[in-house]
Amino acid sequence: MIVSEDIRTLSSIFKSHGFSLYLVGGAVRDHLLSKPSHDYDFTTDARPEEIKEMFRHTIDTGIKHGTVTVLFRGGSYEITTFRTEGDYSDSRHPDSVTFVRSLSEDLKRRDFTINAFACDLSSGDIIDEHNGLSDLKNKTIRAIGNPEERFTEDALRIMRAARFSSKLGFEIEEETKKAMTRLSSNISKVSEERIREELFRLIDSPFPRLGIETMYDTGLLKIILPELYECKNIEGTGYHKENLLEHHILALEYAEKLKAPLTVKIAALLHDIGKVKTERKEEDRTTYYSHEICGAEMASSIMKRLKSSNKEREEVELLIREHMVQYSSAWSDGAIRRLIVRVGKENLNNLFMLRECDRKATLFLPQDYNDEELKARVEREISSSPALTLKDLKINGKDLSSYMNNGPMTGRVLKSLLEMVIDDPTLNQKQILLERARELMERFKKEDV
Ligand code: ATP
Ligand code: MG
Repeated sequence: MIVSEDIRTLSSIFKSHGFSLYLVGGAVRDHLLSKPSHDYDFTTDARPEEIKEMFRHTIDTGIKHGTVTVLFRGGSYEITTFRTEGDYSDSRHPDSVTFVRSLSEDLKRRDFTINAFACDLSSGDIIDEHNGLSDLKNKTIRAIGNPEERFTEDALRIMRAARFSSKLGFEIEEETKKAMTRLSSNISKVSEERIREELFRLIDSPFPRLGIETMYDTGLLKIILPELYECKNIEGTGYHKENLLEHHILALEYAEKLKAPLTVKIAALLHDIGKVKTERKEEDRTTYYSHEICGAEMASSIMKRLKSSNKEREEVELLIREHMVQYSSAWSDGAIRRLIVRVGKENLNNLFMLRECDRKATLFLPQDYNDEELKARVEREISSSPALTLKDLKINGKDLSSYMNNGPMTGRVLKSLLEMVIDDPTLNQKQILLERARELMERFKKEDV
């Protein structure tokens, strides 16, 4: 394996102090797959305090677990001392970690054979003590040692197996998968934050179908996303030939094709979950009235449960709530502007992406889809810079202060003026707005008595 000059120098410093330095885990695996790697993990027989003595600039990143970040020639390197882990009495944390001097001991505690390569940075040699190369060649994810033991130690590894299958397009070896299925209920002992991290990485991967299907088959999906699991029970009707779980997977696969951002992918995977609750069987058809509203609420509570950030949660909720917008050429320009205001300029592209995913995932295509026209009209409106927020109005609260000194009344008047201007942008002129403001104020006063 060829590494940069700086990494070679780093390794020679370890060597001159009598220690060795290895690259481990994902970076070596990705190199063997000729794929770029985004993070590099190093491991060494040097103890954290020994690493800190060797370098002037270090950060105690995870000192308890033996991780020190070394700042060296403008780069930063996360280096972890070889360690073994004590018993896992709770299926999520080792009771203790012990630093050791042997690389083999360290490699044994890792999750899968393809994640247990090391590269000796002084020679460039690759060390493969768990037959990872053959699993890599056969595109297989296999637990190291006894799978039941490995998943009992840390139940997150069950989720990680699904995630790597999604990331790499690999199948999971039979005994490993059986153990995952037997132990999947242990996932509830793992914190939502750790689950979310693996789940979102699974969703944001090149082969998401493999990950989601693995979750379904092993029972993980039923525990982590029961709302999505239930979709399996909804058979396709109308435009949809596909079952509802399949529809969501197809939409997510299409989002990956579009290289959509994570929030669009999450929304693609969940956009119709509201159908499970809103399904009504009528005489000659099945309806799902307001499933997008119900689905947006469900997605929001899923994101809350996963302790996702507010921004991500709000974005996913909005995309799902708006994904059913029924556009027709008869829409007025005012209706287009109202859509822009409701969705927000910054979310429009994502909404169009989600709608495209939804359509591409619908096996029997509806004919009345003209998002290209809607997109063009939205772009035309935005480029004419219409007033869309209170700030864009040609008057503000100060201009009204001689007529009204009442804050709530001013706010109410300005809001009505904005609605009027969104409908007809030619009215956004100071004189006209002042006149209308006086009229509105009189009207509101009358209404209030
Ligand atoms: P990616 O490129 O997707 O980040 P990665 O292999 O680097 O893949 P990480 O989650 O960053 O995955 O973990 C780095 C390495 O640490 C893994 O390759 C594995 O050897 C080890 N590892 C991480 N989490 C666990 C775990 N829960 N149990 C055992 N080993 C783990
Ligand atoms: Mg990594």
